[in-house]
Amino acid sequence: MPEMKNIAIVGAGITGITTAYSLLERGFEVTVFDKNRYAAMETSFANGGQLSASNAEVWNRWATVIKGIKWMFEPGAPLLVNPKPSWHKYSWMAEFMAHIPGYRKNTVETVRMAITARQHLMRHAEKENFGFECEERGILHVYDKKSEFEHAGRVNRLLSEGGLERREVTPQEIREIEPALKRDFYAGYYTLSDFTGDIHAYTRGLSKACERRGAKFHYGTTVKYLKKKDNGILLNWRDDDNDFFEGQFDGVVICAGVRSRELAAQVGDRINIYPVKGYSITVNLDDEASQQAAPWVSLLDDEAKIVTSRLGKTKFRLAGTAEFNGYNLDIRNDRIQPLIKWCEKLFPEVSTEYSVPWAGLRPMMPNMLPRVGGGKHRGVFYNTGHGHLGWTLSAATAELLAEEVDRARGSNV
Ligand SMILES: Cc1cc2nc3c(=O)[nH]c(=O)nc-3n(C[C@H](O)[C@H](O)[C@H](O)COP(=O)(O)OP(=O)(O)OC[C@H]3O[C@@H](n4cnc5c(N)ncnc54)[C@H](O)[C@@H]3O)c2cc1C
Repeated sequence: MPEMKNIAIVGAGITGITTAYSLLERGFEVTVFDKNRYAAMETSFANGGQLSASNAEVWNRWATVIKGIKWMFEPGAPLLVNPKPSWHKYSWMAEFMAHIPGYRKNTVETVRMAITARQHLMRHAEKENFGFECEERGILHVYDKKSEFEHAGRVNRLLSEGGLERREVTPQEIREIEPALKRDFYAGYYTLSDFTGDIHAYTRGLSKACERRGAKFHYGTTVKYLKKKDNGILLNWRDDDNDFFEGQFDGVVICAGVRSRELAAQVGDRINIYPVKGYSITVNLDDEASQQAAPWVSLLDDEAKIVTSRLGKTKFRLAGTAEFNGYNLDIRNDRIQPLIKWCEKLFPEVSTEYSVPWAGLRPMMPNMLPRVGGGKHRGVFYNTGHGHLGWTLSAATAELLAEEVDRARGSNV
């Protein structure tokens, strides 16, 4: 078997670009394909911005299922399920419930990965000298209800088992940590070591570094199919002019977000990713009063399921909601309004006049853990399915994946 050194990556979102970088650092030749003209144009475009080990709790709990059913009948609730029958959706949900026994283990594993990711993410940005509106001011979870806060206390035990320090804070401490918050909450938790940044700026910055390090990029190029070969993988792709091309690689890493499932099926692997839609608004802080009134510390309102990040002086990002509605990317006003209203309620002096709405599809696995590693066929690898935590976890999973590819380099497995 020839040595594996020429690797194709499908997808130039955060997972594809961090994978490219980790492989380049180990001396592989890397070629990246993406159907868009630039990196980070799909789910890695305008997410919540949080690098949040403190949000590592997986959702596989009966309480989530019960809450989800209740929310289905409440307009504007954080969860929306299109009831139209779909085998993909309902089989995914059944699998989600089958993973409830893994709740504790998977939460601890996620928090460990999130902590590991921080050092790699920062190292890459420092080494390659690019900025991404990083704010190292921690993440503040706020709770209105005693019951939610008590649950957070139980989650805290799992987070600390995974190595995370998150401290309980009183309403007064909440106001001291983030003076822009004027109203009282029941209580909160503060994680000083968590931080935020612009995922799009980061992914683009790192993609430029990959180019400088010799990676080839095929943008505006859709990978149509993958074919297993005895000595590698054949890729067939179509460019923007509708011309078809073929090329053979020693290996391929599928980082195609919500489209990973269909590519995996072509090479005999089952990667059951469901597209869980979410929305964000980016509030342009154009005037001095709005800039003063918007928070700098990242917030997570556990009941509303809304996260916030300050992206420099002039941008305030709010994100949330989960929608089970297939691959549909329409921006629905009734899902955007709760984000605007939440901002206006908590920060009345922030002008929401210029708010840019966005929708993205979280590539979610039923057990909420990313799929990292080799497939059935030699040379096929996955780094995908990071769900609601792709920004938080990618720098760690890229390293894990690159180590695995490195181990397979000269072997016959
Ligand atoms: C509203 C919202 C808020 C979020 N907030 C946070 C947060 O605060 N913190 C956090 O950690 N995570 C957050 N996430 C999750 C995070 O954004 C995602 O997990 C992450 O962006 C997924 O990255 P990816 O590389 O897997 O997918 P993508 O960024 O979607 O990249 C996949 C790429 O593959 C390409 N592609 C697919 N198929 C093909 C093909 N056949 N040929 C060529 N190219 C192809 C696509 O064009 C795309 O560019 C949030 C997500 C949403 C929706």
